[in-house]
Amino acid sequence: MQTVSSVAALREVIRQWRCEGRRIAFVPTMGNLHAGHYSLIETAKANADRVVASIYVNPTQFALGEDYGNYPRTLEADQRGLREQGCHLLFAPEDADVYPPEQHGPRASVDLGHLGTSLCGAFRPGHFAGVAQVCARLFHFVEPDVAVFGEKDYQQLLVIRALVQAFAFPLQIIGAPTGRSEEGLALSSRNQYLSDVERERALGVIQALRRAVAEIQQGLPIPEIEERGYHQLAELGFKPDYFAVRRALDLALVGPEDKDLRVLVAARLGKARLIDNLSAIRGKDVIAS
Ligand code: AMP
Repeated sequence: MQTVSSVAALREVIRQWRCEGRRIAFVPTMGNLHAGHYSLIETAKANADRVVASIYVNPTQFALGEDYGNYPRTLEADQRGLREQGCHLLFAPEDADVYPPEQHGPRASVDLGHLGTSLCGAFRPGHFAGVAQVCARLFHFVEPDVAVFGEKDYQQLLVIRALVQAFAFPLQIIGAPTGRSEEGLALSSRNQYLSDVERERALGVIQALRRAVAEIQQGLPIPEIEERGYHQLAELGFKPDYFAVRRALDLALVGPEDKDLRVLVAARLGKARLIDNLSAIRGKDVIAS
C-alpha cells in the first residue's frame, strides 16, 4: 500500500487506475483506526477493484473548545492496519493540501436544512457544514465510484447523501453497519478517553437504545420513550445531549404513519462524548402478533 500526501500524487495514481478500467472505492476517516473502520474497508473491497482510504483530522468540523488538538493521531499503526486489510492507497494530506492557503475567496457551502442543525448539529455548531466541506473536497480529489460511511455516525451519513444529491456528485454512497465490542459498545476513536470504570458504564448507551427499540416495536408513545432513555442515561452518570427517535429516512420528527425509525443518542461520559444509534420498526411486534 502506497501513502501519498499531495493531491497531485493522489490524482496520478487514480489516473493510472482509471486507464486500467478500475472501479474505485473511497473510505474517508480521521485515523486512529479500529475494527469499525476496517469493516468499512472490507465493504469497500467488496464493491470495487481498488480502495483508497484517507486520514485527515479536518479542523473545520470541530467546534470551538472541542478535541481537535487532542484527537488521537496514530499514522504508523493506521498504515500497518490498512496494509493488512488490503487497502490499496492511503491519502494522508496536510492542512495545506486540503485547504491551500493561497486559495482565498468565498467558501462554497450547502444548505443542509434541519439535517445540519438538529441533534448533533445543535450541540456542535458548524460541525456538519465542516464535514460537508471536507467531503466535497475529498470527493473531488479522489473521484471515486463509491464511498463508504459508517451508520455509527448516522446523521453524518444522511448529510453526505444530501451533499451528493445537492451537488450531483457521480458516486454511490454505501452505509456500513456499526462495529461494536462483544458487549455492544460502538467502537470509536473517542472511547480511549474513557477510564476502565467509564468503559463499563458506557454499555448503558446500547442498553438504553435496545430498550427504546423494544418499546418502539411495542408501539409505545415516542415522547415517553425519549424521556425514559434520557433519564436512564442521566441516572447512570451520563450528561445526555439528546435521546431521540426520528424518521430513519431524513431524521424528521416521527409522524403517525412513519414506521421505519431510528433511535439516536449523544451523551457525555467523563471526557468522552459518545454517539450511537439503532434502527427500529414501529409496531413490528404488534403487526407480527
Ligand atoms: P472517523 O474516523 O470517526 O471520522 O470515522 C470515519 C468513518 O468510519 C465514518 O464513516 C464513520 O461513520 C466510520 N466509523 C466510525 N466508527 C465506526 C464503527 N464503530 N463502525 C462502523 N463505522 C464506523
